[in-house]
Amino acid sequence: MLFFLPLSPYQANAVPDFGKYTKELKTLIDEADHILLICHINPDGDAVGAMLALRRWILYNGKDPGMISPNALQKFLLWMEDVDRVLDFHHNIEAGTAMINEADLIIMVDFNSTSRMGKAEPLVIASKAKKVMIDHHPDPTQFADLLISDVSRSSTSELVYYLVGGMGGGEFSDPDYITAVYVGIITDTGNFEHGYYSGDTMRTVGHLLDMGVDKERVFNHIFSNFSADRIRLKGFALHNRMVVHPELHTAYIWLTKEDLDKFNHEKGDTEGFANTLLTMRGIVLSVLFVERSGFVKMSLRSKSTFNANELSRRCFNGGGHRNAAGGEMKGSIEEVVEHFEKTLPLFREELEAAAGELMK
Ligand code: 5GP
Ligand code: MN
Repeated sequence: MLFFLPLSPYQANAVPDFGKYTKELKTLIDEADHILLICHINPDGDAVGAMLALRRWILYNGKDPGMISPNALQKFLLWMEDVDRVLDFHHNIEAGTAMINEADLIIMVDFNSTSRMGKAEPLVIASKAKKVMIDHHPDPTQFADLLISDVSRSSTSELVYYLVGGMGGGEFSDPDYITAVYVGIITDTGNFEHGYYSGDTMRTVGHLLDMGVDKERVFNHIFSNFSADRIRLKGFALHNRMVVHPELHTAYIWLTKEDLDKFNHEKGDTEGFANTLLTMRGIVLSVLFVERSGFVKMSLRSKSTFNANELSRRCFNGGGHRNAAGGEMKGSIEEVVEHFEKTLPLFREELEAAAGELMK
């Protein structure tokens, strides 16, 4: 059965058939013996938050689901309760394969295409388990038996909160559950600085605060937990590696492997760099290019109407949301940046239109 709800953020309260989703999801959970939750590769706070939150709810209902991440979690999330139960598939392929093969229900969270599962993808596709996808990215692949896709939600974690509410958990106040939902919301919105958030998001946050979520503790772990090296890396990147094209309303940063080594880079250290560029007047698109072994990973952020998702798909075989997307491309950093420099002018009209919107 397929449910798909492409709603605008302003229709968040008018979700038709929401009861059908939750009923179907509840039935699948009730009928399953071995539930497995899986998030996307390089999971962010929302992917991990949604997975942990859902696990707490299912655990409360008497079942203990396994959890897989396609690769290792970022350091800034390691304080969260139960993260030690998340299997890093990349480093535990045998154990992960057994978990996938044993599952009779696989719930995928915070991604819209099977390719986001990394090396676990073929195993999940081949699995006979029932599959559910819970996500808030646009244009999901129609792969799961039950697709719960709601782009009006700030985060998959917010969507999980509403699904749990629909399954009778409106007052579920397990501290690890409310913390996980809160982590997902504040990471996907940069603590309400960007991304989509609606009245529903704020009502959710209000309820989480009423139930006692420790917002200072979460904020400190997520946003005030940087090493001195990371702060210096950011200074270096802004000073030495930033390129601005005012006429194209675009700014970007490129970092080589040597740059990262010089500042003892750890996973997650470059999080937020692209957002900083967007605070520059007149800039509607920012990109961070980071060199890895044989390929380059990029993070795109945009403002107003400029569709970073579209650019990432066309230019870098990536994807994401309108204002936050990512991708990767084979080649050296010089080649990838050159490819971007050549492609960017093709988007001049859209960039100018978005900048025009901002000046209104
Ligand atoms: P970030 O820049 O924070 O890594 O990612 C921003 C958004 O783009 C997230 O919603 C993330 O899921 C998505 N994203 C990041 N990298 C990729 C990618 O390689 N492929 C696709 N399809 N989406 C990505
Ligand atoms: Mn998300």
